[in-house]
Amino acid sequence: MFGLIGHSTSFEDARRKALELGYDDFAAGDLDVWCSAPPQLVEYVKVKSPTGKTIEGAYIDSCFVPEMLTRFKTARRKVLNAMELVQKKGLNITALGGFTSIIFENFNLLQHQHVRSTTLEWDRFTTGNTHTAWVICRQLENNAPSLGIDLAKARVAVVGATGDIGSAVCRWLSVRTGVAELLLVARQQQPLLELQNELGGGRILALEEALPEADVVVWVASMPRTLEIDATKLQKPCLMIDGGYPKNLDTKFSGEGVHVLKGGIVEFCNDIGWSMMELAEMEKPQRQMFACFAEAMLLEFENCHTNFSWGRNNITLEKMDFIGEASVRHGFSTLNLKPQLQVATA
Ligand code: NDP
Repeated sequence: MFGLIGHSTSFEDARRKALELGYDDFAAGDLDVWCSAPPQLVEYVKVKSPTGKTIEGAYIDSCFVPEMLTRFKTARRKVLNAMELVQKKGLNITALGGFTSIIFENFNLLQHQHVRSTTLEWDRFTTGNTHTAWVICRQLENNAPSLGIDLAKARVAVVGATGDIGSAVCRWLSVRTGVAELLLVARQQQPLLELQNELGGGRILALEEALPEADVVVWVASMPRTLEIDATKLQKPCLMIDGGYPKNLDTKFSGEGVHVLKGGIVEFCNDIGWSMMELAEMEKPQRQMFACFAEAMLLEFENCHTNFSWGRNNITLEKMDFIGEASVRHGFSTLNLKPQLQVATA
């Protein structure tokens, strides 16, 4: 059985959902009440692959909300408690969704393997980052040509290039896609230099230098809400793949010729019959989901019960091939630009 650990996009959403599910006390509670709320197993689901195989899984709401990010101990406790619940329920492979994988990595939760009487077994969990990286690369390859962008001549800026997802995206784009030039953006210089060395290329630039040069921008960093970007200085056309979380780039760009695509989202071939993706504001919540969640399903379909995506910068092209082939085989497709936004290829 697979598992998905997630959370609401805001405190307000979490309260609304609690009311719908009949948790009236939580719905009326303030943030302090939510800070002490235990994780909830919200629903069980069955998913049938076009291969005929059916798997079962569960969605666990960690009862974390982004407003708790500044409360270090609370955030840590929320993630560990959700992982403990997953293990007690006997789920074989569970994806850490939304902020939970970031909290796990950034707060170094590997040091906290013991939660009360439970010793967490890491091979029951995956960040889902390998599938997310593969999906973002396929979204780029599928959608840039439909905007008239020739990838063999294109400059692609990767914002968050040194991150777990960003570095995998850079490897794929330089070796498999063969884009003309990668523009590498992050804040710390040393990891950028190491990445450039590993790739044998790519230009290190500050964000404001990279954006005006880029035909495609892949955002794989959680950017501050206050970030201001002058859309008039961007290339036209420009494809923006919003792979960060939360996904808020479409509110920042309104300029003609700038096309924002929600990155790291997949669509399943059938309705799943769950309610959890309504929380994540998916356009088709019965079929669409974060690629990291789909990774847990794929690993369950493939009987691959291991922490497939784990730690930082361990994503290889071979792993991306494996999960990408499984994704196609089991009925997932990547989200594309809406047809009316595309222009004829020159
Ligand atoms: P990492 O923490 O491994 O990497 C983050 C990267 O962003 C680093 O390169 C970091 O480098 C850079 N960065 C952070 N802040 C800034 C900034 N202000 N300006 C420029 N660069 C910045 O994260 P992951 O690779 O695990 O995840 C990346 C993003 O993808 C996250 O937002 C995550 O929530 C999202 N995600 C989305 C999924 C989906 O939609 N399906 C699934 C999983 C994750 P430095 O610190 O040097 O700046």
